[in-house]
Amino acid sequence: MVKAVVGANWGDEGKGKITDMLAQEADIIVRFQGGANAGHTIVNDYGKFALHTLPSGVFYGHTTSIIGNGVALNIPVFFKEYNEVISRGVPAPKILISNRAQIVMPYHILFDQYEEERLGGKSFGSTKSGIAPFYSDKYAKIGFQVSELFDDDYLKEKLQRVIQTKNVLLEHLYHKPLLDADELFKELVSYREMVEPYVCDVSAYLWQAIKDGKEILLEGQLGSLKDPDHGIYPMVTSSSTLAAYGAIGAGLPPYEIKKIVTVCKAYSSAVGAGAFVSEIFGDEADELRRRGGDGGEYGATTGRPRRMGWCDCVASKYGCRIQGTTDVAFTVLDVLGYLDEIPVCVGYDIDGEVTTEFPPTALLEKAKPVLKTLPGWKTDIRGIKKYEDLPENCRKYIEFVEEQIGFPITMISNGPGRNDIIYR
Ligand code: GDP
Repeated sequence: MVKAVVGANWGDEGKGKITDMLAQEADIIVRFQGGANAGHTIVNDYGKFALHTLPSGVFYGHTTSIIGNGVALNIPVFFKEYNEVISRGVPAPKILISNRAQIVMPYHILFDQYEEERLGGKSFGSTKSGIAPFYSDKYAKIGFQVSELFDDDYLKEKLQRVIQTKNVLLEHLYHKPLLDADELFKELVSYREMVEPYVCDVSAYLWQAIKDGKEILLEGQLGSLKDPDHGIYPMVTSSSTLAAYGAIGAGLPPYEIKKIVTVCKAYSSAVGAGAFVSEIFGDEADELRRRGGDGGEYGATTGRPRRMGWCDCVASKYGCRIQGTTDVAFTVLDVLGYLDEIPVCVGYDIDGEVTTEFPPTALLEKAKPVLKTLPGWKTDIRGIKKYEDLPENCRKYIEFVEEQIGFPITMISNGPGRNDIIYR
């Protein structure tokens, strides 16, 4: 069976933890989109890890971890992470890399930095991992597939052709040093040596795995609201964050994705620019940020403080719908245990009219939150294993959010660890 683990919100919902947990019963974990621009934090018996490109299944001996064709593969970052995991005592994970995955080129990272610099105050808040320039090139058909690394003459000719246009921009728009085709060729040869043992036809491998009855997990990055089509465009990421894209980014039939576990946070956090209706500020935000996640809400890639807000049922309802959710995993609920009262956003007021439908960006920017305040539970719920053992106000909070979003909350995460989970 194929299951997807995806985000309902702006990312950082705790997908890494849920994937790591579900991976106990999986054979294969596939990353199908995104790149090293966002991170997952995973806490397990080996310690605490911030992964950016490795699939969250790498900690288990029984799983195969796959980089699908939809991923923006930064080869040196991937192997740095791979080696780091091994150096911390994790047995060498089984890895496969799609021959159709495309490669983040060194100049993608440079262009990402230069463009953010050029935009100044109007920048996207990019992590500068090269993701936007990478996907631009992919769709402009000047990207490099892993399979192309294996033909020297072809590679040299293509590099010459591609860097011609890059150098015009470097010289005249950014006023930066030009690219050299020979140097890039040498770099790509070193990439080839790193990936060669792992390259495979992932789509064919997964087709066979499905026939053999294997359990496959598709691991999403970021969340619904960062999807380029359905999110808060243009403050989105550059690849689709939706479960549906799992079929494309892994190369498997869409009808095989039977379960879509959408991870939804019990409060909100976001990184980068863009409208964030339930955002809070000042001391209220600082306290939630400090107590949030596991050791505070700071970016796993950049370390920058995340923007904080109350649970937004309008955004989460939409986020779950657009994913095609079958199950909601409601996470970091334990964090809210310090509050006397908990505001929840239940509607958007746009020019005096209240809606519960998530609007496109131009209207979203005008939206003011309609809040409802629920009573807190004022206890630490970590360690609780059964739904009935949760404090009454905590159950009421879950049930209220569930009713607002309209999708079943079947898992509740009450701590960062693999076993901090309540099934319902
Ligand atoms: P991802 O990108 O969606 O995987 O999310 P992140 O890893 O960036 O953010 C989730 C953070 O919250 C990590 O530090 C996790 O260890 C932590 N976390 C996940 N689930 C829970 C939970 O239920 N409670 C607490 N306190 N922390 C959690």
